Amino acid sequence: MKPITLKNSVLIFSVVFSALGIISCNNDNKQQHASTTEADTAMVFPKGNKVTNDNFTGTVWLNYLAENDTTYNVNIGSVTFEPGARTNWHLHKGGQILLVTKGKGLYQQKGEPIKIIKEGDVVKCPPNIEHWHGATKTDAMTHIAIGTNTNIGGAVWLKPVTDEEFSKVPE
Ligand code: MN
Repeated sequence: MKPITLKNSVLIFSVVFSALGIISCNNDNKQQHASTTEADTAMVFPKGNKVTNDNFTGTVWLNYLAENDTTYNVNIGSVTFEPGARTNWHLHKGGQILLVTKGKGLYQQKGEPIKIIKEGDVVKCPPNIEHWHGATKTDAMTHIAIGTNTNIGGAVWLKPVTDEEFSKVPE
């Protein structure tokens, strides 16, 4: 067996160090999931990461469950809207189906009144129809969003839903 030279010991050290680094990164990830709110522990799918783009108003979380690909032509994500949060107006070229998995929220197609949606509801957003979805003012809402026929095209994002539009919830 070769004696451990300085060069070798640096190599061994860096291998061990990077292995530890990987392990500690994994632990960090687990801790992140575990340290999300208590409500999160009751969810089948963790709520994921905070959305930072401009297509939403308020605090929204996204967990990509299945990325788009050319085999299935769908994308699937669990989206959690904190109270008051909602998407911008938008449309889906290939349509979208929402499965409400938790809480109570709102859905509106352009030119129609806002509909209240709640856990257990299935909402079909027809292709090319402008709409928005989100929480209510006081309730959080989680839905699984299934982007269908993604080979036809994805979401087209439009203007934010104003506070005035958002407040027109039917009694
Ligand atoms: Mn939509």
